[in-house]
Amino acid sequence: LITAAASPREREEQQDRAIRPLKLTDYTGQATVREQMALFIQAARQRNEALDHTLIFGPPGLGKTTLANIIANEMGVSIKSTSGPVLERPGDLAALLTNLEAGDVLFVDEIHRLSPVVEEVLYPAMEDYQLDIMIGEGPAARSIKLDLPPFTLVGATTRAGSLTSPLRDRFGIVQRLEFYQVADLATIVSRSAQILGLSIDNQGALEIARRARGTPRIANRLLRRVRDFAEVRGQGVISAQIADQALNLLDVDACGFDHQDRRLLLAMMEKFDGGPVGVESLAAAIGEERHTIEDVLEPYLIQQGFMMRTPRGRVVTRHAYLHFGLNLPKRLNE
Ligand code: ADP
Repeated sequence: LITAAASPREREEQQDRAIRPLKLTDYTGQATVREQMALFIQAARQRNEALDHTLIFGPPGLGKTTLANIIANEMGVSIKSTSGPVLERPGDLAALLTNLEAGDVLFVDEIHRLSPVVEEVLYPAMEDYQLDIMIGEGPAARSIKLDLPPFTLVGATTRAGSLTSPLRDRFGIVQRLEFYQVADLATIVSRSAQILGLSIDNQGALEIARRARGTPRIANRLLRRVRDFAEVRGQGVISAQIADQALNLLDVDACGFDHQDRRLLLAMMEKFDGGPVGVESLAAAIGEERHTIEDVLEPYLIQQGFMMRTPRGRVVTRHAYLHFGLNLPKRLNE
């Protein structure tokens, strides 16, 4: 499965493919999503129909792409993948749609970034399996209509709020992925370790899971880095102690916060008195893009109760002060 003569990047991609679950039963955690999808897939299969269009929300690395591939696999159909920013013109989407076979899945990642003209083409395609586009320009321009095979659009987005409502309304199934429980991440780590041929004990898997920001992609990445450490300093076995030492070396703290998380929280406390502070000011203060803060950093910090969004801006909670051993401001002392 994994060949020796590959570049580091190829090797990493091969490993990613090897550990990515292909069946719903291997999709760990997300119990409600799994149960609902199993039911919808079985019903569609029994009726011999394409599955309803499915929208998947959730922060990066929680398993949106994985779930899209599992859907195609469980339906026994092919999947074509693309992403919102790649589809620049209506023709780009038309080319994909006309290449689908009955029942196929078209996966559009970052679907909130589709251009409005492309989105217009998607509406009749989703609703009536009809392609309706203009070809040519000026007086020679004409519109053509084509019938498409029944297909399933699976859209993924990190942002619940950025989708236009006509687009959102055309999805029959909407799933929201949550950050994973530690126990589920530990199962994912153990499974990945087994596939990669690593030896790890339960406590080792739990330690990595606790520090993976609730995110399978991060758990798998940490596992690979901890493996390096275990091979050099721990006779190859990943125990809790080895995992802890390796993660400290990687600058991942006991709550799983990395360098960026800590910078964000510290900036809020040290430069803005704990808030409220607007996301733009925060972005400028730590030199990050606003959307990185919104999509990547704060969802987990909010879920863990270290910061909150209020109408007047972001504020940190007392947990943040306690975590960093800083004195509580008056606001939180009362
Ligand atoms: P997203 O598309 O949401 O950014 P991915 O689907 O690419 O996330 O998931 C990242 C990695 O995490 C995948 O390669 C897969 O190995 C792993 N993963 C995601 N969800 C699960 C899950 N529910 N069970 C096991 N592994 C998962």
